[in-house]
This record gives sequence, C-alpha cells and structure tokens, in this order.
Amino acid sequence: MIVGIDLGGTTAKFGLYDEKTMRIVEHSVLETKKLYGEQVIKALYDHYVSWLAAINTRDEHIETIGLACVGPVDEKTDVIKDARFGWIDFPVSKIAKKYFKKTVYLVNDARAAIIGEKWRGAGRKLNNFLMYTLGTGVGGGIVINKQVFVGSHNYANEVGHGGKMQDSLVCRCGLSGCIEPMSSATGIEQTFQSYIKEHPSSSIAKLQLKTKNKLTVKNVVPLIKKNDFDAILCLEKALFPLASHIAVMIHSLDPDAVIIGGGPSALGQPLLDIITKIVRKYTLPFTHELVKIVLAKLGNQAGVYGAIFVAARKYNDYITKTKLHSVDESPNVNNDALKNKILRCN
Ligand SMILES: [Zn+2]
Repeated sequence: MIVGIDLGGTTAKFGLYDEKTMRIVEHSVLETKKLYGEQVIKALYDHYVSWLAAINTRDEHIETIGLACVGPVDEKTDVIKDARFGWIDFPVSKIAKKYFKKTVYLVNDARAAIIGEKWRGAGRKLNNFLMYTLGTGVGGGIVINKQVFVGSHNYANEVGHGGKMQDSLVCRCGLSGCIEPMSSATGIEQTFQSYIKEHPSSSIAKLQLKTKNKLTVKNVVPLIKKNDFDAILCLEKALFPLASHIAVMIHSLDPDAVIIGGGPSALGQPLLDIITKIVRKYTLPFTHELVKIVLAKLGNQAGVYGAIFVAARKYNDYITKTKLHSVDESPNVNNDALKNKILRCN
C-alpha cells in the first residue's frame, strides 16, 4: 500500500492507495495552519500513526510515502527551496525519513495535482493541456505529448508568477503583476471584501452581513448560480489576470484543453463561463472551438493522487536513476502499465 500526503498551508490531505483495487481506499485530513518548521513533519507523522491505527492498517504494510508540498522543490535533492512553515532550503525528505523510518518522496503540490489529473482525472485522455489550480496561490503546469513539462531548471509549473497581468496587488513573491494575488482563491475572496467596501448595499455586502466569517468562494456559489450581477462582476475582476494568462498560453502552446482546479472550481460551469468569456475576447477566433476550458475531476484529491503516483514510480525503481518527470519520463500511464502493475489504471 502507498500513502499520499498533500501538504498545504491550511490542511494536509492523506490518502491510502491499495494496489490490489488500484483505488484510494481511505482518506484523512490534518489542519496545518499553526505549524512551523520541523514541527510540521512531526505533526504529519503523529497523524499518520493515529490514522493508520484508526483504520486497522499496519505501518509495515505501507511500502512508501509520497509527499506533495507547497513551494518550489529541488527534486534532485528533495529540498524545498522556499515555502510556508518557515521552510527555506529545508531538507524535507531527510527529516521525514527520521520520523517515518521509510523513504518519503517529495513533489511540488501543483505538479502533484497535474500528475494526478493526468493519471486519473480530466487530463487522462488528453495529449496536451494546461492546468491552473486556484488555492492559497495559483499553481499549475503544462502537459506536452502526455508528459509533464518541467523546463530546463525544474520550475516550469510556476504559472502563478511573472509578467504584468494586473496592476492592483503586489504578490507574496515580491513581483507586482502576477496573477496569483488576484486570481487565487484567496485573491477572489479579497476581491469580494474590496467590492463590499465600495458597494455596501450590493448583494455581496448583504450576504457578508448574514455570514459569520469573511465570505469564501463557497459562500457565494448560490449568488453565482442565480447569475447575480455583483458576484459575477467580482469574479470577472478577480479572474481577469488568470484569463489573460490562459489566452497567451493558448496561443503559445495550442493545447487540447485548459483544466481549472482548486476550491473555486466548486462554482462549476459559471466559473468556466466567466473565464471562457474573457479568454475569447483576448484570443484569435480560430482557437475558440478547438481549446476547451474544463474543470478538474479529482477535486481536492488531485495532489494526493499525484503524490501516490510519484512515490510508486520512484519506489518501483523504474526511474530512480533518471530525473523524475523529465520530458520523456513523466506520467504516461499506458507505458507505465506495461512495466508497472501498481500504476495501471484499470
Ligand atoms: Zn508572484
């Protein structure tokens, strides 16, 4: 059995993968908000121990663990370059091995999500696609010829940063035009708050008065489904930088599809409609029917699937001596199936 962990700034999601049924058979979630430094790894381990006990699974039956983490990962050394939890050049795998007493394979969380969607989700039958995951930040990636593209320096999935896609907010990375501060789930929620200040009698403001905490994207779903003017306007504003980025990437890469994942995908079709409307305005007409903008299928489990996939591949020695996810080594489930029973889809 394999455990996949998707460690984010708010929660860590755990999944137990059974090779016999080729399914994730158990799930669990741990809050990570107040954790810092090595304490994070210890908390993951403590949760792992109590979770396995609760589901009557013995540690010796877990062959390997995959850990998807926020922040850029040097996958040669399994070091996080810079992330939440005060992690700078933090040797995650080394410290995790100290607690778990087995190898814990590391992968960037956004990359794990795209691997998950390629393996078992919306990208399964696609050759070329882009993915954007809207969470605390904006992650994502590119799949070319069924393979995750990692770039020359392994940072090709940082779609949330760079360029001048907006001029309202400075990003946590220090740059001023990134899509992340506006189009992430956090950015969308901040847009609601600034709109409420400017429009105190709007439907969004009225909804905020009825809601105990600051409005989340989920809170606004009923308004969006009713095609509410204020809610749609907020989303159009927040999603403009994302859609601009997608428009540029569609012209650069000519993909089959663009997959949108993360919390705001709970908005469903209206979210796609808003993004599509802006993308169509800023792309040439011949692309409109060719490139589909679709929702991710695995929801918040995509990262867990990706972590399991990475751990399984490395554990099986199939690619341990080569660079993980290099263009000719990334998840190609059909090829893997020939060599690797664990990764067969069905
Ligand atoms: Zn940035």
